[in-house]
Amino acid sequence: MATNRTFTMIKPDAVANGHIGAILNDIIAGGFKIIAMKYIQLSKETAGAFYAVHKERPFYGELVDFMTSGPIVAAILEKDNAVEDFRTLIGATDPSKAEAGTIRNKYAKSIDANAIHGSDSDENAAIEGSFFFSHFERF
Ligand code: GDP
Ligand code: MG
Repeated sequence: MATNRTFTMIKPDAVANGHIGAILNDIIAGGFKIIAMKYIQLSKETAGAFYAVHKERPFYGELVDFMTSGPIVAAILEKDNAVEDFRTLIGATDPSKAEAGTIRNKYAKSIDANAIHGSDSDENAAIEGSFFFSHFERF
């Protein structure tokens, strides 16, 4: 059964390019409620642990370098069918393949610096949300 929460990060490229406000507007206009949010810079250790599922992929080192290159916004979001609807809102991993109007289509420039993260399953949404937020930072 689908749960109603997902986890997101506005990535360093989108933060550096001044898109935090526009992206949060799109998220809220898309019907998502912000449950928890923080503005932080990840260490290599933290980014490496978060993306450990991608350890064997050839771009893992680049991904960790990119995700630690500047601050990010991390958030837990709520909506019916949150995981699937949020992946639709952000668009394909490669922004050149992301549908018009999606967050990656509007604010991302490349497959690595692709503006935003969205959990890919209910299970990972719960794992990722609790990776970033302790029990007293969410409700
Ligand atoms: P997502 O679920 O759409 O974010 O995509 P993946 O889970 O497949 O990949 C995780 C993240 O790794 C992506 O969002 C990109 O930031 C990055 N990434 C994916 N493919 C590549 C690639 O070919 N090269 C590089 N440098 N980064 C990539
Ligand atoms: Mg993924």
